[in-house]
Amino acid sequence: MPVTGRKQLAPVYFYSTLVVCLLSITPRANFSWRHTVLLISSGILSWTLTEYTLHRFVFHYSARSLFGRKLLHAAHLSHHENPRATSRLFSGLVISLPIATAYLLLAWIATGSLRAAAYLFTGLVAGYCCYEWLHFQAHHRRPRLRLFRYLRRYHLLHHYQTPEQRFGVTSPLFDLILGTFRPVRGHKRVKA
Ligand SMILES: [Zn+2]
Ligand SMILES: [Zn+2]
Repeated sequence: MPVTGRKQLAPVYFYSTLVVCLLSITPRANFSWRHTVLLISSGILSWTLTEYTLHRFVFHYSARSLFGRKLLHAAHLSHHENPRATSRLFSGLVISLPIATAYLLLAWIATGSLRAAAYLFTGLVAGYCCYEWLHFQAHHRRPRLRLFRYLRRYHLLHHYQTPEQRFGVTSPLFDLILGTFRPVRGHKRVKA
């Protein structure tokens, strides 16, 4: 059974704590519960788009420079070389922190409210935590629920059959929208 140490899960702890701090320190605006749910749901959806965009357009980009290739190797391609290595499975703070900071600032500017940005960020972090959990499940567990079994097969086919397609991990939604979706029918037996 693979061991996931605190070091590998540090970003999950860090961002969860950051969300609690943000919701504690930002002034309470008069948002209705519907508005709050809508903002958090939009944050979750924005995670799905962020995950897809980074995976497809950044991590699988064919960099020309040696520095670029090394960076992308460290960020994602080393995970393709050894998908079951837990040391390469989780995202690191070095890469995620600038993205999280930019997201929070853009959300603040776009909504004009730090509280609204905090709710959007809460959704983003919820999506990110789901991503880390589902990604770990895909490589190291055999889920019982049909939905999780489907997502596991979908991601493993990205690794072992179509690395230029099936980029979604938490959902194939943006694969469907942007033309990189391929069904998993007929590929039930995929090695982990
Ligand atoms: Zn993977
Ligand atoms: Zn990939």
